[in-house]
Amino acid sequence: MPTATSRFTEPAPSALLLLGRGVDLVSERGVECAGELPAPSEPGLVERARAARAALGDRVFVLGHHYQRDEVIDFADVTGDSFTLAREAAARPGAEFIVFCGVHFMAESADILTSPDQRVVLPDLAAGCSMADMAAIHQVEDAWDVLIEAGVADRTVPVTYMNSSAAIKAFTGRRGGTVCTSSNAQVALRWAFDRVGGVEGTGKVLFMPDQHLGRNTAVRELGLSLDDCVVLDPRKPGGGLTTAELERARMILWRGHCSVHGRFSERNVAEIRAAVPDVTVLVHPECTHEVVEAADLVGSTEFIVKALDAAEPGSSWALGTELNLVRRLARAHPDKQVHYLDSTVCFCSTMNRIDLPHLVWTLESLVAGRVVNRVEVDPDDAHWARVALDQMLALPGY
Ligand code: SF4
Repeated sequence: MPTATSRFTEPAPSALLLLGRGVDLVSERGVECAGELPAPSEPGLVERARAARAALGDRVFVLGHHYQRDEVIDFADVTGDSFTLAREAAARPGAEFIVFCGVHFMAESADILTSPDQRVVLPDLAAGCSMADMAAIHQVEDAWDVLIEAGVADRTVPVTYMNSSAAIKAFTGRRGGTVCTSSNAQVALRWAFDRVGGVEGTGKVLFMPDQHLGRNTAVRELGLSLDDCVVLDPRKPGGGLTTAELERARMILWRGHCSVHGRFSERNVAEIRAAVPDVTVLVHPECTHEVVEAADLVGSTEFIVKALDAAEPGSSWALGTELNLVRRLARAHPDKQVHYLDSTVCFCSTMNRIDLPHLVWTLESLVAGRVVNRVEVDPDDAHWARVALDQMLALPGY
């Protein structure tokens, strides 16, 4: 039997399988659609989607994440961030099918929060999240073993970002931790520290899987220092940390990041400030600490949407978030100047996998009585993930 340390050194599998090479439903990876997809160039796709949608009526509820393509958002009953959408799904017990236009971990959360007779469908199983893929459950279990061996596990509370697999949410629930979103990370971290003696004490948080959200929240909102944070690398023996480093740390940050928000740089901020006088730079907290420090405002996707709604006509904004959302906000606010912070294209490639052909195929399959690409969480994991999600809902002010 391998030791915890030897398993911990196994290289993580690549984030995405090759197209057409099977599925891996226990992770955020999966490919192949079991059927004939219409070609993107096929005429009449919009009419086909409308007809299938109308035929299903109230039996189907379509959710669209803010980062989805316009051609998909056009068919969404509601749009929002990942947790808003999961809650919207839970509030529709009459809908037999929840079609989640987002990524795999979001569909899992919707399955956990909806009733057992509702079926959650992801139009393309290849729509994973590279950040969620950076924390596999066996790596997290091995990391916890490292904390036990270092003698700090009993003073550590796990907190996982919504952008993680159901298995990791379940891990968190089993160990008395909580889920958080980018909107409530500060409240969640404060709650977690209070469980082990308070922010001023010696307790620790294991924050997964986005190191940037964890660091930005701890340093900017809880007053911890950068030296209080260490990064646990699941590819290195012992997480790449010594027992002394783990003993000193307050925030143990998983080495994960968002491939979209991690691209923005301080140089992008400097360039937009030089090019656009009086621009307000607003970035997502998944950006690096340096970018967040260089920006004027930092906030979740919902915060960004509301900030633009409330902005003065004529004001100039540079947004550091996903490009589909930025383009949609620019169109919705023609009286404001909305710039994209990066000079190169920066879509979320996995979000973009859900396109009109996949949506048409999904809806027409449901009309024909075939439930395709169902996302279903193991019942035990679903129970414990629900415990962690319910803990988040019970946080003060939530
Ligand atoms: S934008 Fe980043 S965190 Fe969101 S789904 Fe894409 S890779 Fe994951």
